[in-house]
Amino acid sequence: MLGIFDQDGLDVQDIVYFGLYALQHRGQESAGIAVSNGNEIIYHKGMGLVTDVFDDQTMASLSGGKAAIGHIRYTTSGDRLYANAQPLVTKYKKGSMALTHNGRLSNAEALRSELEETGTIFQTNLDIEVIANLIARSIDLGLEDALKKMISMIQGAYALLFMTEDKLVAIRDPLGIRPLALGRLGNSYVIASETCSFDTIGADYIRDVKPGELIIIDKDGLTSIQTPIPLSSALCIFEFVYIARTDSTIDGISVYMARKDAGARLAAEHPAEADLVVGVPDSGTTAALGYAEASGIPFGEGFIKNRYVGRTFIKANQRLREQGVRVKLNALRRIVKGKRIVVIDDSIVRGTTSKKIVEMLRLAGAKEVHMRISSPPVRFYCPYGIDIETSDQLIGHSYKVDEICKIIGADSLGYLSQEGLLKTVEGSGCDFCRGCFSGNYPTDVKNEKE
Ligand code: AMP
Repeated sequence: MLGIFDQDGLDVQDIVYFGLYALQHRGQESAGIAVSNGNEIIYHKGMGLVTDVFDDQTMASLSGGKAAIGHIRYTTSGDRLYANAQPLVTKYKKGSMALTHNGRLSNAEALRSELEETGTIFQTNLDIEVIANLIARSIDLGLEDALKKMISMIQGAYALLFMTEDKLVAIRDPLGIRPLALGRLGNSYVIASETCSFDTIGADYIRDVKPGELIIIDKDGLTSIQTPIPLSSALCIFEFVYIARTDSTIDGISVYMARKDAGARLAAEHPAEADLVVGVPDSGTTAALGYAEASGIPFGEGFIKNRYVGRTFIKANQRLREQGVRVKLNALRRIVKGKRIVVIDDSIVRGTTSKKIVEMLRLAGAKEVHMRISSPPVRFYCPYGIDIETSDQLIGHSYKVDEICKIIGADSLGYLSQEGLLKTVEGSGCDFCRGCFSGNYPTDVKNEKE
């Protein structure tokens, strides 16, 4: 998600459009932009990629704004429905608000039931609708206090961007689980999930929004309010493994450097006798470079990726997921034939991709296939916004490493250790959530979805 409060007469809708374009890797289900002209909020949203949802006509209909927020959605909670596309634009007694949320609340269901008990009617399954209702209920306290009260009631992972007719608000959860960064474009502040979008729109990165920080931006400037936070933070370490774009920096850590270092550490932890190191594009490429450099085994392009296919994991069923891998990737026969290959990917979730990757390499004539994963086994579900609702969907939950190696058909399999992964993000001063690897979560979480 990305938002801007304009001070320079910019076309805010265009800036948000290009910013969302740079964030498309974070979600492909739906896209939306809301714009405020100071008096009212207008919006457009729809299912699909940014380019599917917006055309010249819809973009023209959004022009003339002073502030704008946009969102691309990766389904975490709620169904894949138009009603669940964001921003959620809603009216309350002081006017209108548009809201977007990245992450997932761990107490959304309890709060929703409490609100329903007192007569609130919900139109979506979104956590953000719970948040909108909590803000509206205490708005007589004034916006700042209503927001603080809402923050004291919600738990879990959230980066929020919120807009009224004349204010842009950003909030990062007290543990800083999901990233959120502040930048500047000329005299205008911008807020985004990842810094790579600042580069695309020509903005300068100022700093990350702090855990528990509430930022309110209006025509008079920026106000920062620090709400109570626990002693240590819990930034999602999976952002560095897979979620974030390689050219982003989160809480002072370069995603690229972390991924490359993960590859180098993987080479030390799980060496292999091989002729060539290849990465599974794009998510395994940087770690593969690190592995090759550290091991002295040459790096090569083992796969060619069809650039026009979205992330396969997102597809709703297993048949489509398997087909998706083949549509997306093809092994380069000329490069891999007759060779002992080390193939690097960032993670194994269900095991679909790795199995296909090994099969493709063998069909292309590879003599041996040594799979190396630049993160530990994903063994537990994520309550904070990754679309894995039960641990039993994960191959790492049900099987040991040697069993997974057999299932995917590799000659050997090695995962980076948790200690190794933590070293790749050392020095930032923040702590990390590693719940998907360890099963220990930084907040109380409800039981897994049945
Ligand atoms: P799988 O095929 O289910 O084992 O998924 C592993 C592949 O999906 C790897 O190539 C990862 O790059 C990618 N991946 C890992 N985590 C996620 C996620 N949360 N959402 C989408 N793709 C993912």
